[in-house]
Amino acid sequence: MISRKSPREIGQMRRAGRVVAEVLALMESEIRPGISTLELDRIAEAHIKRAGATPSFKGYLGGGRYGKGPRAFPASTCISIDAEVVHGIPDERLLREGQLVSVDVGAIVDGWHGDGARTFIVGSVAPEVTELVQATRLGMMAGIAAAVPGARIGDISAAIEDVAKPHGYGIVRQFVGHGIGTDMHQDPQVPNYRTGSRGPELLPGLCLAIEPMFTLGGPAVRVQPDGWTVVTADGSLAAHFEHTIAVTANGPEILTRI
Ligand code: MG
Repeated sequence: MISRKSPREIGQMRRAGRVVAEVLALMESEIRPGISTLELDRIAEAHIKRAGATPSFKGYLGGGRYGKGPRAFPASTCISIDAEVVHGIPDERLLREGQLVSVDVGAIVDGWHGDGARTFIVGSVAPEVTELVQATRLGMMAGIAAAVPGARIGDISAAIEDVAKPHGYGIVRQFVGHGIGTDMHQDPQVPNYRTGSRGPELLPGLCLAIEPMFTLGGPAVRVQPDGWTVVTADGSLAAHFEHTIAVTANGPEILTRI
């Protein structure tokens, strides 16, 4: 079922979104060669708690380990390096010059969720890698721009696909954007590619997490034995950007911003 939020409820989601945006800004200032992803996660979690919010990823049930059923996510952020696309588990690994680091953060304020992600570059990388990161962000922004009342979910999908296509990037299909509100994942799904269906109409009050994942290779991904970490099947580099937005009568409003 697709729920629409009242202006007051969107105001609540703005508070959660702001915490997410603050954490991502903090990550940008902390990411450097030599810092561990576990340390980044500690910094993120401390900020979420200081802001009076709850980290929504910690304890989230969803990982499957060799078909053994759900496994709780152990951290407050997902941190994914290079060919890891999403859902990487923070650990003792130290970041190195030339890596891509994707940080995904979720926060809950008074029961309302915010969800956002960005890919950061550690030091410098080859121009085609910078271009992948920039294009993934542009894909997200194009998807957001398409989220106007009267349009459809499929218009968001098409806008994102149209940014990736000229570059020949792989668009991950197994993970997609989603509705969001009092749960992190609500209907509808928001694919980052054309599905052949126009999908539900976008009405004011609909809140969505729009989150393209582009790769320098193919679209196929697989889950690592830890039950969570999603990597590109061909080992190619991946980038991921995500904003939580609200469809309003005046157009899309980005909620995960400072
Ligand atoms: Mg999400």
